[in-house]
Amino acid sequence: MRVNTKLVSWDEIVDWSIHLADIIKKDGFKPDLIVAVARGGFVPARLLCDFLGIDNMLSIQSQHWTEAAKMEERAIIKFPYYIDAKNLKILVVDDIVDTGDTLKLAKIYIEENWKPLSVKTAALQWISPVAKFKPDYYYIEVKEWIWFQYPWTRLEDTYQFIKRMMMETFKETGKREWTYEEILRGFHEWYGIDVGEAYYKRAMEILVEKEIVEFDPDRKIYKLRVT
Ligand code: AMP
Repeated sequence: MRVNTKLVSWDEIVDWSIHLADIIKKDGFKPDLIVAVARGGFVPARLLCDFLGIDNMLSIQSQHWTEAAKMEERAIIKFPYYIDAKNLKILVVDDIVDTGDTLKLAKIYIEENWKPLSVKTAALQWISPVAKFKPDYYYIEVKEWIWFQYPWTRLEDTYQFIKRMMMETFKETGKREWTYEEILRGFHEWYGIDVGEAYYKRAMEILVEKEIVEFDPDRKIYKLRVT
């Protein structure tokens, strides 16, 4: 395995969200509003609404971006907006805190612009050795960095993983042509997970659409385009 990856199932997400809700309940925090950090926080936030019995949910898009020239990573609020939250206790929810930039920025933005009664943060997972920010509530402390392949990024991750495998293999060995079976085998060797036929098929369609690979229907071969 080249990239340390864990496939997370829908059932695990439900289980982790129930436990996270219990931790929040035990602490006595009763939010009036849950804010999902888009896009990773959507499913956990919606499940927390269910398990904590909360009707009010909004979302804010906080996103990492790379300033290529500086090679410096920053997060931005993509569509800033304002609500009157002076009487509200808010819980901001994301899937995972890795560097912590995304959730930290969302929290600061809400505090400074919406001026709520209080803001707390929650994530299903917290990568403690690398995170610059610790959420108030988390269910799993991750002690060694790993890529969690969540159900809501399965297709996106699959085509990016395949792209990376093909490009790095080309750099290392000059290999450009792959059969579908070789791609499946390679994917499993590289990432140690299996995402299923529905995802591999669509991932290859996307790579062809994006003109990253071309498909030769006569030879049934995927060929990496090299520019
Ligand atoms: P952060 O580095 O904390 O700003 O993370 C930004 C977002 O990227 C998270 O909310 C996740 O959606 C995604 N992400 C970051 N690290 C991981 C990881 N190790 N596994 C899965 N998703 C991740």
